Amino acid sequence: MTTAKAYAGFSATTPLAPYSFERRDVGPLDVQIEILFCGVCHSDIHTVRSEWGPANYPCVPGHEIVGRVTAVGRDVKKFKTGDLAGVGCMVDSCRECSSCKAGFEQFCLAGATFTYNNPDKKRGGFTCGGYSTSIVVDEAFTLKISDKLDLAATAPLLCAGITTYSPLRHWKVGKGQKVGIVGLGGLGHMGLKIASAMGAEVYLFTTSPGKTKDALRLGAKDVIISKNEDEMKKHAGSFDFILDCVAAKHDLNAYLQMLKLDGTMVLVGASPEPLELDAFSLFFPRRILTGSLIGGIAETQEMLDFCAEHGIVSDIEMITIQKINEAYERVIKSDVKYRFVIDMKSLKS
Ligand SMILES: [Zn+2]
Ligand SMILES: [Zn+2]
Repeated sequence: MTTAKAYAGFSATTPLAPYSFERRDVGPLDVQIEILFCGVCHSDIHTVRSEWGPANYPCVPGHEIVGRVTAVGRDVKKFKTGDLAGVGCMVDSCRECSSCKAGFEQFCLAGATFTYNNPDKKRGGFTCGGYSTSIVVDEAFTLKISDKLDLAATAPLLCAGITTYSPLRHWKVGKGQKVGIVGLGGLGHMGLKIASAMGAEVYLFTTSPGKTKDALRLGAKDVIISKNEDEMKKHAGSFDFILDCVAAKHDLNAYLQMLKLDGTMVLVGASPEPLELDAFSLFFPRRILTGSLIGGIAETQEMLDFCAEHGIVSDIEMITIQKINEAYERVIKSDVKYRFVIDMKSLKS
């Protein structure tokens, strides 16, 4: 076993603090990765603070992991020592159920093994995530990372990237379509970049006019201020697809009104409170409201390859691990453009 240095939460109400634990030995199909960068996702905060149910402490968050392979098991085929590698939100699944066989490991009927704070079904204990110096993962759940992109800025693709790419790809967003992204944060800024790279005409819905300049830079054709009724009216019934990235209570019906016949709106932001739906928002004309959760492993690789081809990474602010608690407060206030990434060198020194 290898000792990993880490930062962990020890209770719902105390700051993250240094911790160390043992990573498993490298099995025949395992890849050992020295973690170089890890993104900070809002889910990390919800989990470590027990906002989504009681966490298992000490809890090491982090599921936007990139680094370099330091060892591989004897049967590993895809990776060799020295390669770049990434790990996203999952590290295992049953691989036999209908969801796994179809490539939707995130919907594994036996429950996927998520990268942190999740029972490790094969070995016992709970998984520990990327706020650490190393990780050992089955090669089937390890992603290839291009050396063409900035490595630190690639980390957020592993959660924010796939969360937005998967629905855009599944609902075949592309040329000739008018697409709306609701909310400009970690998810929304990836949605803008990816949807515009797919060839769609992309608009940002936001409540803050101050975000216009950034939205245009990130690929939006224009910005629609959702509080402005005249602007909203002008675009009513004209969108093919809307990706709703808002993780707070908000009015779904206002955005559903923007969809044309058979238009689809997909929720990817997790509102802590139930959202109100007026059935008539779906009736006139026939509209679809649905949701999406990250993406399968093959699709995550496809997303990484797509981003490498189109030169897409996240806009990031790099921090040291020692600044993680301050970063959490800023994430909660949406005061980050648009993702914090931890430089894991700071954990080794
Ligand atoms: Zn995440
Ligand atoms: Zn399964």
